[in-house]
Amino acid sequence: LNPCAWPERWRIEGALILAAAGGEPFRGAIEIAGGRIVALGPALPPAGEGVARFSRPGALVLPGFVQGHVHLCQTLLRGLAEDLPLERWLRERIWPLEAAHDPESLRASARLGLAEALLQGATTLLDMGTVRHTEVIAAEAVASGARVRIGKALMDAGDGVPAALLEEPGRALREALDLDRRWSGAAEGRIGVLLAPRFTLSVSAGLWREIAAAARERRLAVHTHASETTAENEACRRLHGGRPIEMLERWGVLAGPTILVHAVHLTAEEIELLARRPAAVVHCPGSNAKLGSGIADLAAMDRAGIPLALGSDGAACNDALSVPAEMRLAAQLQSLRQGPGLLGARRILAMATGGGARALGLEGEIGALAPGKRADLIVYDEVELAWEEEADIASRLVYASAGLRPREVYVDGRPLVLEGRLVRADLAAIRAAAARARARLLARAGWR
Ligand SMILES: [Zn+2]
Repeated sequence: LNPCAWPERWRIEGALILAAAGGEPFRGAIEIAGGRIVALGPALPPAGEGVARFSRPGALVLPGFVQGHVHLCQTLLRGLAEDLPLERWLRERIWPLEAAHDPESLRASARLGLAEALLQGATTLLDMGTVRHTEVIAAEAVASGARVRIGKALMDAGDGVPAALLEEPGRALREALDLDRRWSGAAEGRIGVLLAPRFTLSVSAGLWREIAAAARERRLAVHTHASETTAENEACRRLHGGRPIEMLERWGVLAGPTILVHAVHLTAEEIELLARRPAAVVHCPGSNAKLGSGIADLAAMDRAGIPLALGSDGAACNDALSVPAEMRLAAQLQSLRQGPGLLGARRILAMATGGGARALGLEGEIGALAPGKRADLIVYDEVELAWEEEADIASRLVYASAGLRPREVYVDGRPLVLEGRLVRADLAAIRAAAARARARLLARAGWR
């Protein structure tokens, strides 16, 4: 079938379908029309005229993964900041390298990151952008066909930040709001914009208050890192007079939808406060483990009712952009932290699908396979994942899918990956362009 002339109405028949993380899979069919799911079940009425039918016994269909936190600008920085704790990782490597981006290197970085994420089943991504040229990432997001939420990284303060990443606060916020004006709703609504202040240490109190006001006025969510390390908590107390969560509350940020990344070192009171606010947490266990930041108390946040998503963080601290890898690590680390069983495979799978959608404010559109929802779905080879009859699919996906890749990935009912390959782009060409762009980036940064 020609992916460029994909039918408007189509269905997959005879597949094993897991419609939601907490449900039981069933064998049946799913029908798509105009980018949305119109019907699914074990026994659909015969397909109407003009509906393309794909018989797929041996396929496992599930909702696409939500990749809750990435830095597409850092895909070119993979392997360039090894074996450092967060503060030195940022100051000595990441900030200087990020500051050396030009539109061309940023394009190559975003293109590679989006390709890797799609090939590993992420249909929705939340990206933190960067200080300059974030519109280049937005344009790549449109071209990729993926569903992407993005903000321009806001930085107007901080120790050891290169000049190219420090902006005058008024200009920074204006640019962030311009990004919203230009890109919100682009690509049939697949692109959305939010405000992305980097973290409490790189944003002045004045700008934080303006961000809270702008978010309220423009109805934008705020996406920021918080309480990733104990050193960050302490530095925030010295700089602003309180811990990150306390300050976000004081500045009025938590009054509106807030997507906090990491939340590794929270007190019980902070968890309680977040549960009362429209706040969600993106857990990035691979990044937290590599940088030695700690193990977030996912079970306590889940018990408190905080919407939880999973994220990889950037390629410079992960290094894979794989939601399945994060699922497995999240489950294993929680077992190590508090004994097995507090968060079962279904809860973890939910964070990668429906729960992740809720954390991003997209639960009405994605996260489960149901009539009316966007047709964002992925297809695994059933036998690769679970060859025995009675296998628990959620458990297999969480513990045994990190080495597998979905055969097919669809967003809005259109194929982006078929037979394990990108439909719209050539991975080898993307990698070659990334290698060239990275060499020039390193030269600009004075590394070579
Ligand atoms: Zn991050």
